[in-house]
This record gives sequence, structure tokens and C-alpha cells, in this order.
Amino acid sequence: MPYVTADGALYPCIMLPVDDLAVRNVHKEPVAELFVKAISRWSGLPARQQQRAVELVPCETCPGHHHCAGGCMGRAYATTGDFMRVEDRCFLRKAVYTWKPIPPQGI
Ligand code: SF4
Repeated sequence: MPYVTADGALYPCIMLPVDDLAVRNVHKEPVAELFVKAISRWSGLPARQQQRAVELVPCETCPGHHHCAGGCMGRAYATTGDFMRVEDRCFLRKAVYTWKPIPPQGI
């Protein structure tokens, strides 16, 4: 979900305002040209997300691993400054993945 700042920088997401991912001067160039530039900067992001899914140690034994896979890479970066960390809602996600219904009582 691309995001444009008021000073004319285009990022792949509001959670990823990383200098290496920025396309500058968006108010001066056609959108098509901006996205051509963006492709070269952003093309590694899917591979990085795949790397997270495979390499994040806290996720290896998590029951939600195949669904969550470390959560949102942008949230992880925004809250830790590191792409290779689990996202900040990990504890909430784990609570959902490990939830078990309470059996009915007294019937
Ligand atoms: S809930 Fe936490 S440990 Fe489990 S897969 Fe998601 S980020 Fe990883």
C-alpha cells in the first residue's frame, strides 16, 4: 500500500519509511515513472518476507507459523528497526493461535 509523504517521498508502505526504499520528488514526475523507479527499490521485499517466514526463530515452534509467519514486516521494522524480528502483536497472535474453548460445565 504505497504511501506518499508531504515532502514528496514515495514508500512501499506507511510502516516502511526506510531511506533505501524511498522514491523522491514525486510531485515532479509522472506516476508511471515513479513506480518504475520503485520496482528496483522494492523488488527485494517479497524475498525478505519469505526469509522472515523461514528464519524467525521465535516462530519455529509457534502453532500459527504457517498463517502468521512473523506477522507484518512493516510493523516489525517500525517497532524494532529490524526487518528480521517478529512484529509487535506477536503475543496477541499467539494468544489466538493457542486459544482453546472452555468446556461446558455441569451438564
Ligand atoms: S504469533 Fe508470533 S511467534 Fe507465532 S508465527 Fe506469529 S510472530 Fe511468529
